Amino acid sequence: MGFLELKGLTKRFAGAAVVKDLSLSVEKGQLVCLLGPSGCGKTTTLRLIAGFVEPDEGEIRVGGRRISAPGDSEAPERRNMSMIFQSYALWPHMTVFDNVAYGLRLRGLPKGELQQRADTILAATQLSQLATRYPGELSGGQQQRVSLARALVVEPETLLLDEPLSNLDANLREEMRFEIRRLHDKFRYTTVYVTHDQAEAMTTADLIVVMNQGVIEQAGSPEEIYQRPRTEFVARFIGGTNVFRGRWDGQDTVACGNGLALRCASGEFGSAVADTPVSVRHHDVRLSAEKPGAATNTVQGTVARQIYLGSHRDYLVNLADGETVRAVTPAGISVPAGQAVWLHLPPEHCRALAQ
Ligand code: ATP
Repeated sequence: MGFLELKGLTKRFAGAAVVKDLSLSVEKGQLVCLLGPSGCGKTTTLRLIAGFVEPDEGEIRVGGRRISAPGDSEAPERRNMSMIFQSYALWPHMTVFDNVAYGLRLRGLPKGELQQRADTILAATQLSQLATRYPGELSGGQQQRVSLARALVVEPETLLLDEPLSNLDANLREEMRFEIRRLHDKFRYTTVYVTHDQAEAMTTADLIVVMNQGVIEQAGSPEEIYQRPRTEFVARFIGGTNVFRGRWDGQDTVACGNGLALRCASGEFGSAVADTPVSVRHHDVRLSAEKPGAATNTVQGTVARQIYLGSHRDYLVNLADGETVRAVTPAGISVPAGQAVWLHLPPEHCRALAQ
């Protein structure tokens, strides 16, 4: 059994279920990202864990203790959890030190211990030099570090983060992803992290939970989710991909349009035969002006456009029936728009998906 257990959770607003029969097990010390598009129910799941909303069905357990069930939920302040919001919610009239020490003061810690614990966490979050400043005198990234320090200093059993980096500019966001992971490796709090940004999830998470319309589409390590997506939704959401559809022969090949027979080295071959999706990542498509040696998994098309992006080129290729394939190639492969090309989709990179 995991440390944090969600079992059959359902939450409805005005009769409509936004979280549907959701079950998830989080190990102690794991960092789990809930990842999905806007409105898929990530924040509602986090708020159910925090205790700001109550489930209509199901239950939540922490360390075996039931903390939430319909009509029987522990108050948020009794759950030993810290939550970090998009807006850092710092006290503007308090210094960095006082913001960080606030939770310890509430708990009535003796002065010496309070000072020592606040100092330790300020050092870990690289804020010692800024301890006497006010939030209004800090950059966005520094404010976010204060909110992290404030959440960590009370040594919560569970840390909850709701899109913590969405107010930062792109460079800072990238830096803070590594910072969050570094702090996680140092303190190992059981953490649930909500984001719609796949790079953020890949950088920070031990386990990525991809959500869609209130349910979990797939949960796994970043590598598992990227390399072995189960559904078209997951394949498209994590990393760019082409999806072909066709008739599965019952073994390992899917006959798609344009005379393209795709042999797939891996997949979720199911019982359906007629409309099987196959995913091939953009950078796994081999593009060449000459006909390749391999006859299988090969199709001819016409370059619709190509863009030079320094380290690589990004192609759109039209097939005979109007279908478009995207290919990312080394920058040295340059074929102008309008010219015929061959695409080879290596079987080891073709993955059949569940319907
Ligand atoms: P985002 O990334 O945009 O924050 P999300 O995946 O976190 O999206 P939620 O905030 O969980 O999604 O919302 C899921 C659905 O529930 C949305 O359609 C939202 O409008 C609805 N919803 C959330 N809270 C309430 C509420 N208090 N009352 C009514 N509907 C709500």
